[in-house]
Amino acid sequence: MNLIFLGAPGAGKGTQAEIVGKRYSLPTVSTGNIIRAALKAGTPLGLEAKSFIEAGRLVPDEVVIAIIKERLAEPDCENGFILDGFPRTIPQAEALDAMGVPIDCVLDLEVPDETIEKRLGGRRVCPDCGGSYHLDYKPPKKPETCDNCGGKLMQRKDDAPETVSERLRVYHAETQPLIDFYDRQGKLVVVRGQEKVEDTTALTLKALEERA
Ligand code: AMP
Repeated sequence: MNLIFLGAPGAGKGTQAEIVGKRYSLPTVSTGNIIRAALKAGTPLGLEAKSFIEAGRLVPDEVVIAIIKERLAEPDCENGFILDGFPRTIPQAEALDAMGVPIDCVLDLEVPDETIEKRLGGRRVCPDCGGSYHLDYKPPKKPETCDNCGGKLMQRKDDAPETVSERLRVYHAETQPLIDFYDRQGKLVVVRGQEKVEDTTALTLKALEERA
């Protein structure tokens, strides 16, 4: 099963992708996590991406397309994967089609902008394993500590309010057109994001099971 999770930043794609991935034993491929790891490690990719990510802009298509090509060629993606945060533009989606990667289902997680703005302020991430938490909706068991690996949680720089509005602007301009793109391909399923993570998960699993 090859899945794409679409949705605005902070819609809950990463959280749902992680849960669904565990349930179906599918690896989650998050371009955001790959880029942040490169940034942390100070690799050439990280240096190239730094100014874009910190300004809430998209990293150039050719850079992320190359990342995805390499990642999807790894053996753990052979029997399926969940793409979280890719594609984010029409040229990226076209590049994925051109790679001959068949996509079974594209799940669009819908959450209103006002909710996104509130949510991102409370988001905390683990810089070591990429785990994602929320102070109110998905708190870690121990304050400021990652449940998975014990890393110290932090707030993403691009979750600052002024960067969030830019990211939402970019989402509507560049990523939202993908909803029509995949609807035309007959692959789109829409799930309304709920306040509670488990309620969204229930709707997500139901939607995927109905498609299977
Ligand atoms: P995310 O963790 O998915 O919100 O991604 C964080 C940031 O990484 C985005 O704001 C972009 O700067 C960059 N990024 C992640 N995925 C992509 C993509 N598919 N295309 C362009 N930039 C991306």
